[in-house]
Amino acid sequence: MAKPALILHGGAGARRERNYDAEVVHMREVVEAMKARLDAGASALDVAVEAVVMLEDSGLYVAGRGASPNLAGDYELDASLMDGASGKAGAVAALQGFRNPVVAARAVMDRTPHVMLAGNGAARFAAEQGLTRVEDPEAWYTRAGKGEDNHPPGGLSHGTVGCCVLDSQGRLAAATSTAGVFGKMPGRVGDTPIPAAGTWADEHAAVSCTGQGEYFIRVAAAARTAFGVAAGQSLAEASQAVIDRIGALGGDGGLIALDREGNIAAPYNSQGMKRAWLATDGGVGVEVFGR
Ligand code: ASP
Repeated sequence: MAKPALILHGGAGARRERNYDAEVVHMREVVEAMKARLDAGASALDVAVEAVVMLEDSGLYVAGRGASPNLAGDYELDASLMDGASGKAGAVAALQGFRNPVVAARAVMDRTPHVMLAGNGAARFAAEQGLTRVEDPEAWYTRAGKGEDNHPPGGLSHGTVGCCVLDSQGRLAAATSTAGVFGKMPGRVGDTPIPAAGTWADEHAAVSCTGQGEYFIRVAAAARTAFGVAAGQSLAEASQAVIDRIGALGGDGGLIALDREGNIAAPYNSQGMKRAWLATDGGVGVEVFGR
């Protein structure tokens, strides 16, 4: 039996002038809840999804309930997940009208021959699957980024969420969910729902990214991290090299990563990245600005 481990994030757009006490408390609660699930033998994939559902439902991050609208005033959400053990992935992009995009992504993986559904097709599928709807967007969404979501188009949001998990059978999985960057154009899709860009899991590493998605797509950030590990780099080296590459292109953000030994890495080049983890020794940690 392997010792389980987990790391989650609540976005790399954290700003020093803002207080994140509520997020710190919440992230710890999520890690503790998922520790119990892992101790009970839950799979990495189930735990990654359950953690992201808790993060989406909290209304504290710019994902799920905390989403901000796009420039047209619509809430278009993205999510993906990947199961390292089977190599399967699922995703939804620009999904409107459903409470938990990560659950829709899981349904795409489990119940269709496809990896990603977008827009109206994703919404139609989610409805067919009986997933929970958002009946009244203005009443439901908390706009966790309110006051900051009037940044210029492409400005870094501060609340994508994601989780990487190693379970007791040595399986890795990752999931990520977001409302995207602030001020995005209708139809804009970032890295979050794209396996290899915003999310990746294989037998070497699980990775979930957060930041200016256009840059993460262009460097295949999540997969590049795992391929670095497969090529013999440490998780810390491989993930830092990816963030350095994004920085060299002019992009901001960070990622969380976990390898099959349970090593954890969380490099970022923005001011802060909300994150919390369960180490293989059972220790739980939470951090926003420290390295
Ligand atoms: N990566 C997300 C996107 O580009 C945003 C974020 O992580 O803040 O949609």
